Amino acid sequence: MDFRPTDEQTLLRRTVREFAEREIRPHVREWDEAQHFPSDLVPKLAQLGLMGIQISEQYGGAAMSAIDYCICIEELARVDPAVALSVAGHNGLCASHINLFGNEAQKEKYLTPLARGEKLGAWALTESTSGSDAAGMRTTAVRAGACWVLTGSKTFITHGRVGEVIVVMAITDRAAGSKGISAFVVERGTPGVSAGKKEDKLGMRASDTSEVLFDNCRIPADQLLGAEGQGFVNTMQVLDAGRIGIAALAVGLAQGAYEAALAYARERKAFGKPISQFQAIQWKLADAATRIEAARLLTYRAAYLKERGQRTTLESAMAKLYASETAVKVSDDCVQIHGGYGFVKDYPAEKYFRDVKLTTIGEGTSEIQRLVIARQLLSRA
Ligand SMILES: Cc1cc2nc3c(=O)[nH]c(=O)nc-3n(C[C@H](O)[C@H](O)[C@H](O)COP(=O)(O)OP(=O)(O)OC[C@H]3O[C@@H](n4cnc5c(N)ncnc54)[C@H](O)[C@@H]3O)c2cc1C
Repeated sequence: MDFRPTDEQTLLRRTVREFAEREIRPHVREWDEAQHFPSDLVPKLAQLGLMGIQISEQYGGAAMSAIDYCICIEELARVDPAVALSVAGHNGLCASHINLFGNEAQKEKYLTPLARGEKLGAWALTESTSGSDAAGMRTTAVRAGACWVLTGSKTFITHGRVGEVIVVMAITDRAAGSKGISAFVVERGTPGVSAGKKEDKLGMRASDTSEVLFDNCRIPADQLLGAEGQGFVNTMQVLDAGRIGIAALAVGLAQGAYEAALAYARERKAFGKPISQFQAIQWKLADAATRIEAARLLTYRAAYLKERGQRTTLESAMAKLYASETAVKVSDDCVQIHGGYGFVKDYPAEKYFRDVKLTTIGEGTSEIQRLVIARQLLSRA
């Protein structure tokens, strides 16, 4: 067992950190207030390999490992969790689904522009009446000769307005339940696909989130992704990996909030001394630093096992649950340490506090992670 990062990983962390400080930090507040998705940033992210982090070089990707992926997402989230969410949705859901289950022609056609940042990816599972209960979806895909015809609507989709390659899950055989769900790749611009309402969000406001609508949307039969009827099973595998990314996002967000709290505690004086000298503040900082390390280790362990080709349903859910709930606690304490200044937008504390809540909701709520963990534990001998 070796806990040390490799020299390449240390360099990767430094490179992404410097990039985030230089290209993202100066704009965080402005993008958040305007709910502006920074599309100008995409080519710069692509130059660093961050639009195809784990995609093989054959398709223009950076071919990094699962732990490298965590490092990239962490460092983006430390500065702006909304940018990290966009990068995670693009890489960890859309590109990952095509990479895992696409055929050679689909990989060539879709992964290459995704990895180069020429196109943004979206992944559409959730509907207005089915989030946690994803198999209860209503969107249908009906075979019509050489085409599939998609009808329905998806809700809360990251890159719902800006994504050009959309992976969509739809019912192809209602009687077969979750085994009657299939995945498809739909290109923006196909007649019948459009973006619906843009969500006005509590946090993660620079990440584009909207409905995606399918109205008799005809796509060629070869845009079925993976085997017919396997869409839901494949989705669970995509989420096993995606949840490691959300765990990394939570770790990075918590790290950013902790660093902000530590810096403020050193400079803010009360009763004639820096507040960092009060034990009540020290314990918050000590707990935060300890929990963040524990969350990071759980996250890297899940990533390590994934890299070795193991199924990580249990480990991913544990990492996502613990890291997201840690990040909520750390962001809360960060506001508390800032006192009144934690409640206003001049300091980053209030934004971390708003952004963080998504981490206990997206890609499966905390309740669903506990359900997954318990099922895994109870199914073992
Ligand atoms: C900013 C943002 C980005 C998103 N991006 C995407 C995306 O790109 N693609 C996509 O497909 N989806 C996306 N989502 C959707 C997200 O995955 C869902 O919101 C999430 O899975 C929860 O579903 P829901 O909102 O329908 O809540 P519900 O499922 O209605 O849950 C409501 C409450 O009930 C609880 N609950 C539900 N079932 C159970 C149960 N069996 N046991 C105990 N408690 C339960 C939940 O934990 C929650 O507390 C995004 C959401 C947001 C907010």
